[in-house]
Amino acid sequence: MSQPCGTTLTSTNKWLNIFQYCRFLRILGHVMVLLVLALVGFIYTAVVPLTFGPRLISKNIFVILASVIVIIVFSVVTAMCVWSYLATVMLDPGRVPPDWHPFPDEQHARAELERLSYTTYYYDRRDPRRPRFCKRCQVWKPERAHHCSVTGRCVLKMDHWCIWVVNCVGLLNYKAFLLFIFYAMLGCALALLLLLESMIDFFNNKLKGPSAPLIFVVSIFSFAFTLSLAGFLAMHLQLLAANCTTIEMYEKDRLHPWPYNKGFRRNFEEVFGRNKLRWLLPLYTEVEKRQLLESCLGKVPQATGQWGPTALPMLSHPATPFLSTVV
Ligand SMILES: [Zn+2]
Repeated sequence: MSQPCGTTLTSTNKWLNIFQYCRFLRILGHVMVLLVLALVGFIYTAVVPLTFGPRLISKNIFVILASVIVIIVFSVVTAMCVWSYLATVMLDPGRVPPDWHPFPDEQHARAELERLSYTTYYYDRRDPRRPRFCKRCQVWKPERAHHCSVTGRCVLKMDHWCIWVVNCVGLLNYKAFLLFIFYAMLGCALALLLLLESMIDFFNNKLKGPSAPLIFVVSIFSFAFTLSLAGFLAMHLQLLAANCTTIEMYEKDRLHPWPYNKGFRRNFEEVFGRNKLRWLLPLYTEVEKRQLLESCLGKVPQATGQWGPTALPMLSHPATPFLSTVV
């Protein structure tokens, strides 16, 4: 990582950083990717090849038509789920560009870093728009960026590191992540509904053959995942409605009112874009991607036109030193 302005800040904390050991989660995460894809494969197998596929050779035309519709709908939902999942896994959540800083020029950035190094002055820690410097990456952190201890770098608008997707969820893959949860919940709920008749047959000892245990297990998993994913989706929809990340939700001290809350419609469009046709697709156009990056990196939000102690909310009383808590 680059070291802006030729000056560095080093951590003054001597306590053991337990998060450095979290990197093993990345290795475990690769197993989770296989697990997720295997789960999707099992559910699809139980619904299509084992339950509705055989009905295509029925002599009843209505049964054949209904089965074709079910297979098409379920296949589309499964494909969208896999696409959203892989997009979340593979998309970069957003990284801080080399030598980025929130000041008008290098001279201001250097002066600010010197002040952070040698003086004791404080910003209002509740304000997420204050200048922050990452001691581990040795870079300035844009608004809402956080250092991810698992990936070892700062991530733009970081939400959380997710073991299910082996990736940090942030600015550029949050939409794909939400769509993955949505399609996964929809797929599990559909599977539960479509396998209901088979489950009733299973308990009445009418469902025989080697496929019966698989259909039973898949139904139980679908039930559990539908409930858990619905709860998780509801939580993230609440966060989306308030334009708040998971990390920000858990921050003890926050500004009230929350400065990023622009109303539900604009908060939703900030993540999903303005084009309704692409709301259900886990991708951004180049224009949307640039707008998102500019929303994090291109701001000069203060009335004075620049960051600085006169433009920032300063505390009138001594508080937690900025340097010891900046990471
Ligand atoms: Zn960092």
